[in-house]
Amino acid sequence: MSTQNMTNGEVDVYLDYDEAISGYDPVIGLETHVELGTHSKMWCGCSTNFGADSNTQVCPVCLGLPGSMPVVNRAAVESTIRIGLALNCTIAEWCRFARKNYFYPDMPKDYQISQYDEPLCFDGYLDVTVETPDGPQVVRVEIERVHMEEDTGKLTHAGGATGRIHGADYSLVDYNRAGIPLIEIVTKPVTGTGRLAPEVARAYVTELRNVIIALGVSDARMEEGSMRCDVNLSIAVPGAEWGTRSETKNVNSLRSVERAVRSEIERQASVLNSGGRVIQETRHFHEDTGRSTSGRSKEQAEDYRYFPEPDLVPVAPSREWVDELRATMPEMPAVKRARLQAEWNINEFELQSLANAGAIELVEATIAAGVDAAAARKWWTGELLRVANDTGVDLDSLSVTPADIKQVEALIASGSLNDKLARQVFDGLINGEGTVDDVVAKRGLAVVSDDGALLAAIDEALAAAPDVAEKIMSGKIQAAGAIVGAVMKSTKGQADAAKVRALLLERLGVSE
Ligand code: ADP
Ligand code: MG
Ligand code: ZN
Repeated sequence: MSTQNMTNGEVDVYLDYDEAISGYDPVIGLETHVELGTHSKMWCGCSTNFGADSNTQVCPVCLGLPGSMPVVNRAAVESTIRIGLALNCTIAEWCRFARKNYFYPDMPKDYQISQYDEPLCFDGYLDVTVETPDGPQVVRVEIERVHMEEDTGKLTHAGGATGRIHGADYSLVDYNRAGIPLIEIVTKPVTGTGRLAPEVARAYVTELRNVIIALGVSDARMEEGSMRCDVNLSIAVPGAEWGTRSETKNVNSLRSVERAVRSEIERQASVLNSGGRVIQETRHFHEDTGRSTSGRSKEQAEDYRYFPEPDLVPVAPSREWVDELRATMPEMPAVKRARLQAEWNINEFELQSLANAGAIELVEATIAAGVDAAAARKWWTGELLRVANDTGVDLDSLSVTPADIKQVEALIASGSLNDKLARQVFDGLINGEGTVDDVVAKRGLAVVSDDGALLAAIDEALAAAPDVAEKIMSGKIQAAGAIVGAVMKSTKGQADAAKVRALLLERLGVSE
């Protein structure tokens, strides 16, 4: 007997991914919400600043008081059009808002103003790249629509053990977030990705986030909820009609997008293989287990009684405005990556590791400060990334600036620092020991270039190892390394090794 529970479609044991994917073709659909970074809310002038005391950024409009009238935020429309253009969408010449009616205390009006059958942007695509064993592969993810809506308030359930509504004594509601402009970006069903479905989903959300950040319309922080993703997934035997989809909510990181797709493929395949059926439902993803649990059934479609919002005029962006926005689009991330790869003369893999390290902007700024491209990359992805990883902080929060790197490089070029000493300078900067000059002075970091001092150190090293001196003089020049090493040690790395070697050979009267 299988572990299948026929009433709710749950299984206890999942097939492993290879086995699950071998019998089925997955279809994915991604719905992404992005909170726009406008100063004021979608329909009123209330502030959108995060972290204020509860219910201090509210007014009759966002509290849904009778008689209040919403007005569309122009900046939000502009940001939405920019997103639509970046996603190669058609921009509607005319579209309306719709009321989505539902009764829940997070929405004081008892309806959400959204867009329904007339989204502002539609029919676009975003190309994403995934790594495969045969090299990078480009997948075109088609975009169904980009529409405008408003965020809800925030409920806090108090008194219970879990913080959930069940078992709570009472609930608190904060309407500061109610009415903040929210954009929803919905993909068409993505087919044909096979076993790469989890990677494609992650690559899509990653690239979408890159685009949003490049446009400057939102900070798109998944951990903080300004970008949120719902993952729709179904599987079917190859050649058969698409299966029933589930919609996984609470997917709050890029890594979770990939994990949610993978575990849902495993779960659905397990359900089908054990003779069950997949139920159309929402599911909740849990970071800790990497699995989801059943939420609300969607077998009966909810009736939101959508109708055109009577209190708002239609949005009819003029073609001149759209053209103007098109003409002022920033460089898109994919174009920028290709340009930097060529300019910096690196391969896709190297660029990817810069991107993963969050170092692209820092390297760019360092090059702009006048540092050679290879040196800029070397410092950010070498020593500085190591320190950042060790201390668990982001690269851009280390107290090292592109100007510091420029100064250190200049000291290296003039011979007063070497790489080893430079690492100590960065260590001092990160420790808050002052400027580059301060650290060099306080730590006494400078290459010893005075021949007299170097010769004294060489003589000392030779005296301590007379046998090595003999060897060198008898022609075994490779033995010089031991003496050079001893001098570097006694000068605490503050000598130029090539120079020490030359002085040593001269001292012993040996030539190469
Ligand atoms: P809903 O409002 O029910 O969430 P939407 O149309 O807003 O429906 O979004 C559904 C998402 O699921 C879209 O991204 C769509 O492409 C995707 N989708 C539709 N059918 C399937 C399917 N059979 N399998 C996987 N994804 C699907
Ligand atoms: Mg939906
Ligand atoms: Zn308001």
